[in-house]
Amino acid sequence: MTKQEHILIVGAGLCGSLLTLRMAQRGYKVTLVEKRPDLRKTEQDAGRSINLALSNRGLQGLRLAGVEEEAKKLCIPMYGRMIHDKQGNTFLSKYSGRNNEYINSISRPGLNMLLLDAAEKMPNVTLVFNHGCKTVDLENASATFKNYETGAETSFSGDILLGTDGAGSAVRKSMFNHRKFLFSFSQQWLTHGYKELEIPATKEGGYRTDKGALHIWPRGEDMLIALPNLDGSFTVTLFLPYSNSDYCFDNLTTPEMVLEYFTKEFPDAVALMPNLAEEFFQNPTGPLGTIKCSPWNCYGKTLLLGDAAHAIVPFYGQGMNASFEDVVVFDAILDKHEGDWTKVFHEYEKNRIADTNAIADLAVDNFHEMKEHTASELFQQKRKLETAFEAEFPKEYYSKYSLVTFNEAISYDEAMKKGRAQDKAILNLIDDGTLKDTMTLREKLELVKKETKEILHDD
Ligand code: FAD
Repeated sequence: MTKQEHILIVGAGLCGSLLTLRMAQRGYKVTLVEKRPDLRKTEQDAGRSINLALSNRGLQGLRLAGVEEEAKKLCIPMYGRMIHDKQGNTFLSKYSGRNNEYINSISRPGLNMLLLDAAEKMPNVTLVFNHGCKTVDLENASATFKNYETGAETSFSGDILLGTDGAGSAVRKSMFNHRKFLFSFSQQWLTHGYKELEIPATKEGGYRTDKGALHIWPRGEDMLIALPNLDGSFTVTLFLPYSNSDYCFDNLTTPEMVLEYFTKEFPDAVALMPNLAEEFFQNPTGPLGTIKCSPWNCYGKTLLLGDAAHAIVPFYGQGMNASFEDVVVFDAILDKHEGDWTKVFHEYEKNRIADTNAIADLAVDNFHEMKEHTASELFQQKRKLETAFEAEFPKEYYSKYSLVTFNEAISYDEAMKKGRAQDKAILNLIDDGTLKDTMTLREKLELVKKETKEILHDD
């Protein structure tokens, strides 16, 4: 085992920072190069705290690198979806019938800083900021970077290069442009974009609504969600079509129209958002897309991980979680084949690609589920039954959401196959009236299991 080896990692976001820490813990010399300034030294966007849902698969990655407990100090548990109807009525749809299963709201910059701090403490790590990767020499694990402070071009190289430079990856673009092997690439945009807004804390620093839930205002075509922050505020995200709709980003062009739209669709949220119109025009609108590509590795020298390999839409709250799980999977494969990078890279890609394709597809499914189905009677009946199964038979029943979010022991691909079959089974049984009120919960569960088995068999 040659631990003198040097790993060059491009992109110090969530995946790159965790990967750097873990590779350094394994004894490698690591250089991590990031295009943006060091976020620990720059002032964060005033008043804007962006957060993410962190769940079991992500926690597993943090645990591997020994930073789970530190990260948990930044977490706010969210036990379910708090659904808001147009009249401002709310009800909680729990994520699971098991009390110990919940997701966590965590600050993106807070978590990124924690990982950078931990990586920086390692004597074998060098962090370089303000250097944007331009091109990669894929066969030689070296890359040219622009120094944004001086304008100069510099090169860095390693024994291998790991690309964790996110959805717009320059490392992936070098693979795309290389033309010495077949590189498949697809990018699919949703017709919707997103905009981050805020429910500020009260004057006393308290929360204006329940902090123990992920709030959703599902409206069919569009949707608002809100996740709590430690400072008493909530980060609110609006998902809205760009065009071709009564209300869309293209036609919400004046403060009056923004207020009219929000007051009509989300009246109880408007009451909590004193700076709504101002923020709406200040904050950018972002696109939402899925990127799939292959291969992720070439020449036993370069490998893509995280969003660079598999960017997904955010509706399952799994992009970061999947990227952290990448580190866990990569680490486990290193345990088996350390010393042979070609083998490690191939094994990693072979093991991982079906899972990241699965979570990409599940995330698009969940887009429709969240904006439309969470408000539907049939969906609510299904969730009620599933949470009852989970509460009564905690070792026997796991909903699709639980399989994906709380069961890191099973892969995304397995979770998708089993979860989809279960969904179909329950919806069929509810819809055709087979699940009678007179039946016991056990009888209903046995019917669901039988129907699920048949669907899995037919597929
Ligand atoms: P990134 O976090 O994007 O990091 C990439 C890094 O590379 C950045 O620091 C960037 O500056 C740097 N970089 C880019 N180009 C270069 C270059 N040329 N040279 C050098 N450095 C470069 N996931 C969840 O798990 N839960 C959620 O609740 C969730 N919510 C989301 C909500 C929204 C609106 C969006 C858009 C995403 C959400 N995600 C969520 C997904 C999550 O943000 C990503 O999956 C995650 O950030 C991926 O980590 P990464 O390190 O691969 O990429």
